[in-house]
Amino acid sequence: MKIKTKSAQETRKFGQKLAAKIAGGGIVCLYGDLGAGKTTLVQGAAAGLGIKRRIVSPTFIIVRQYGHFWHVDLYRIKSLAEAKVLGLEEIFSDPRNIVLLEWPEKIAPILPKHYHEIKITTLSENEREIDEIIH
Ligand code: ADP
Ligand code: MG
Repeated sequence: MKIKTKSAQETRKFGQKLAAKIAGGGIVCLYGDLGAGKTTLVQGAAAGLGIKRRIVSPTFIIVRQYGHFWHVDLYRIKSLAEAKVLGLEEIFSDPRNIVLLEWPEKIAPILPKHYHEIKITTLSENEREIDEIIH
């Protein structure tokens, strides 16, 4: 399914709707270049799940936990070995966890079998195409 958003707020709204679908647990891989809107979508998802704390980027913290909600930003990870010590496999294995991953391509070999795939493409300064695939 492909949709277009015309503002960061619309992308947050999309994130909120996505969160409602996986409120009981699920993994979302967010693909897209720097500035595409991955973190923006995560902000919407967190807000949709009632998380009050502000979702931020970038910092040197790769994994942030808000109860069963996990925001993982692998931007600074340089190798799979570096990612393996983060305990992601354990996080994936709890079906109650809601995990949103930025730069999931860096851990392709350890991604779980089933996940939502979101591809965000920048069309113009304020327009994005969001493509959703469920594996
Ligand atoms: P990423 O995490 O993919 O690097 P961010 O979410 O941090 O990207 O940044 C996206 C930037 O683009 C933000 O400054 C946001 O306000 C802006 N933006 C403009 N239009 C949109 C849109 N339609 N969807 C998402 N972000 C948008
Ligand atoms: Mg980001």
